[in-house]
Amino acid sequence: MRKRIILLGAPGAGKGTQAKLLAANNNGLAHLSTGDILRDEVTRDTELGRKAKGYMNRGDLVPDELIIDMIEGRLDEDGGFILDGFPRTVTQAEALEKITAIDVVINIALTRDEVIRRLSSRRVCRDCGKIYNLLYNSPKNEGVCDACGGNLFQREDDRRDVIENRYDVYIDVTAPLINFYKERGLVKDVDGSQATEKVSDQILVALRG
Ligand code: AMP
Repeated sequence: MRKRIILLGAPGAGKGTQAKLLAANNNGLAHLSTGDILRDEVTRDTELGRKAKGYMNRGDLVPDELIIDMIEGRLDEDGGFILDGFPRTVTQAEALEKITAIDVVINIALTRDEVIRRLSSRRVCRDCGKIYNLLYNSPKNEGVCDACGGNLFQREDDRRDVIENRYDVYIDVTAPLINFYKERGLVKDVDGSQATEKVSDQILVALRG
């Protein structure tokens, strides 16, 4: 599959989990997560990381110019790609249109209550990035990744007050992208409240259609 795909959805809707699965099952399909790239910049204490850190810890968006500069040059259209967490504002979507065409936008829908419930129980492997949820997808051994044995941690921005801000930011500035892409006839809606495998199946159906 060589499609150019955007995954839209609130924080915690499952974009990262689904993007990883899609990329793993489709050779050459690149997974680009702006959140992962930014967290890596923060860990490496780069200039971009230092600029981005405060916004991220508060659950605010990193300014558009920084994000657009960061994404340019990373989009390899030949093998297709999955964008996870980008674009997040209309300005970013307009900039993206100048860089590349998009084939399909998968909108993973989830309610506010479910977003809060999921994010507060999310854990991530420090080594391989695998995502767990203590409510319905916990690791076999507490705090240890099933896949690679790495340590699991809770993201800084998965604390209750930050989660609420992230959701509000999503509603105010990211959710308008659903209409932006509906006007372009690109959106396929998927119910994100289902189990991971069911959501994956729906995404595959949407991608084939
Ligand atoms: P995520 O892992 O996608 O939830 O992103 C974590 C944080 O990184 C967000 O809360 C923002 O602070 C920042 N971030 C990630 N992607 C973007 C983006 N496209 N535009 C602005 N900020 C972003």
